[in-house]
Amino acid sequence: MSETTTAAAAKNPSANPTTPIVHKKGQVDPASLRHRSLRTDEFWRRIPGWKDVDEATFLHHLWQEKHAITSPARLVEAVQSLASPEFIKDVEAGFHQAPMAVRISPYLLSLIDWSDPYHDPIRRQFLPVGSQLEPDHPMLTLDSLHEQDDAPVPGLTHRYPDKVLFLVLDTCPVYCRFCTRSYAVGLDTDVVDKVSLKATDERWERALQYIAERPDVEDVVVSGGDCYRLKPDQIRFLGERLLAMPHIRRFRFATKGIAVQPMKILTDTAWTDAVTEIVDKGKKLHKDVVIHTHFNHPNEITGITQRACDLLMERGVLVRNQSVFQRGVNDSAEVMTELVRKLSWVNVHPYYVYVHDLVRGTEDLRTSVATGVQVEKRVRGSTAGFNTPLFLVDAPGGGGKRDMHSYEMYDRETGISVYTAPAVKKDQYFCMYDPLSGLSARVQADWQDPAKRTQMVNDALAAAKARVI
Ligand SMILES: *Cc1c(COP(=O)(O)O)cnc(C)c1O
Ligand code: SF4
Repeated sequence: MSETTTAAAAKNPSANPTTPIVHKKGQVDPASLRHRSLRTDEFWRRIPGWKDVDEATFLHHLWQEKHAITSPARLVEAVQSLASPEFIKDVEAGFHQAPMAVRISPYLLSLIDWSDPYHDPIRRQFLPVGSQLEPDHPMLTLDSLHEQDDAPVPGLTHRYPDKVLFLVLDTCPVYCRFCTRSYAVGLDTDVVDKVSLKATDERWERALQYIAERPDVEDVVVSGGDCYRLKPDQIRFLGERLLAMPHIRRFRFATKGIAVQPMKILTDTAWTDAVTEIVDKGKKLHKDVVIHTHFNHPNEITGITQRACDLLMERGVLVRNQSVFQRGVNDSAEVMTELVRKLSWVNVHPYYVYVHDLVRGTEDLRTSVATGVQVEKRVRGSTAGFNTPLFLVDAPGGGGKRDMHSYEMYDRETGISVYTAPAVKKDQYFCMYDPLSGLSARVQADWQDPAKRTQMVNDALAAAKARVI
């Protein structure tokens, strides 16, 4: 043994190969490794309507499509006595008031804890119940992100200098209550007539022509709607057209599918092959083609998800995740940390967590910026930096994505936070509003008074403008 190693061994007995290693870090709590247990049971058989469905059938993407729940009647058909008549009545009331069409995959429906549907995080995201709805915030508008104002061609938003958002279609495998694009996505509902963003050749040509005419654009978000709904030929068509444009260096196919219907990756081989083909062609051209998906809660990740993600990993397809931060779903450090670590475990990179946008009929799902700040602080440091999502506010009025912590001012009493976006819209100020239910009774009443409302907003803007950084 050399002199230096002897000295090291004296200082730290663990350095001596013959003595047991001293674990300076305490033993782990097994609960902190929960993210590694992915359920592999036939969990769907607990749903009375599907108790006889075998694995091969359940994994078939067409079976999932055919059995999607789109009405209270179909819900009752599936869950039967698992849900109480009172709960079903409550869901019926929710369906009537919802600005978003309802559609939930059998995969997700089976993952709901039917012994306590009111508190279940998956139920909260997809099945509205009348009794939990809260009145909308008075500052809400239907397209709160002004995606249509920044659109040179219908369904193509050009807000940032080098990237565009291309909404290629307006349907999804499921409909999320909290969808930011409820102004366009999904069928018309009792309360909203939607803007049409159908997958028509003519609209796509106009959008592709615009992208071709813009050498400043390097990055395209191909979204919707949901790319799970594109046919393999459409994936190839869009992919090849974009890859052929010299200035386009990267694009993403956005789909919530991996989170809500992971079996399609395994059983719709034509779809998965089409994506793989475009990713491979991109690699040969040194262009980056990836998938962006949308998991919000650890319960959405199962052994089926892992099999889908393993296949994408083998195919060399990178998947990133964007979550929406939602009350009663993932607004705690424990749930968010587990989600981030579980995603990382199946090789999905957590990219963003968005503070819930101002969307109609979803006030009960929104959280304050303060809650986001607290949770972010506890999540950061729990895993690799590249697997730690950035917490964002997508500033209402078209300011774009801002680091949630970067507000110019934040008045926790009125719930107003003010952001600027110098690289996107110079010299403008953007306000975000916390949900009313977390504010004092007096301030809640002030928000209902148009004069006081204007005063609160003007005061917040004045305070933000007075601040020198
Ligand atoms: C989110 C978004 C993008 C992509 O932004 P990234 O921060 O690169 O993920 C592009 N355009 C619009 C309009 C968007 O909302
Ligand atoms: S999958 Fe995406 S676009 Fe479709 S409803 Fe959900 S959030 Fe909206």
